[in-house]
Amino acid sequence: MSDSHDNKSQEKHQKRQQKVKDQVDAKVAAADKVQGIFQVITGNGKGKSTSGFGTVARCVGHGQNAVVAQFIKGMWECGERNLLEKAGVPFAVMKTGFTWETQNRETDTQAAQQTWQQAKAWLVDESIDLVLLDELTYMVTYDYIDLDEVLDALTNRPKMQSVIVTGRGAHRKLTELADTVSEVRNVKHAFEAGVKALEGFDY
Ligand code: ATP
Ligand code: MG
Repeated sequence: MSDSHDNKSQEKHQKRQQKVKDQVDAKVAAADKVQGIFQVITGNGKGKSTSGFGTVARCVGHGQNAVVAQFIKGMWECGERNLLEKAGVPFAVMKTGFTWETQNRETDTQAAQQTWQQAKAWLVDESIDLVLLDELTYMVTYDYIDLDEVLDALTNRPKMQSVIVTGRGAHRKLTELADTVSEVRNVKHAFEAGVKALEGFDY
């Protein structure tokens, strides 16, 4: 290739990059609202809860206050909980009731409500920067927690408080209220090929 051809393509590249930069700069300048963010992480792929916990780590790493409510009792110990409780992150975990195996309406509702009361207290506390409501979507789907109550609590939370809701099949009203919605799509999952859930990777 000739030198002049090289120069031309370099020039073209630079022009294109400048255009991209101008567009990004304009968007950065336009994003001048300072407020807490409500994010929903939904979909059937793997990576919803780990993403939520990643943001909790990010928050704590900046010396901010994060709290976690888990609305499903895991079959296994939660690795993130073991770590984050040591870093002073309070957890509210559904003590009895809902797992994938148990489906007892009465005890599940009771357990969900108990955890929700704690979550509600956090959602009015200005000293908390981030509230992770892990697997909350199921509680709404099964009607263990009233959707309007959740929407109210989220709408009226402190202005600078961020909230993350994770779980499959997020209700449309939750995604409508959210500022950021990510849907994790399942392309493939090791489990489908018979690979057992792995400590330190899956939980
Ligand atoms: P993770 O906690 O790994 O981020 P998740 O929160 O996106 O996963 P959940 O629906 O909460 O997914 O399921 C939790 C458990 O189920 C994890 O052990 C995860 O590896 C597994 N899992 C997630 N997606 C799938 C899938 N598509 N098929 C099979 N198992 C899955
Ligand atoms: Mg999850």
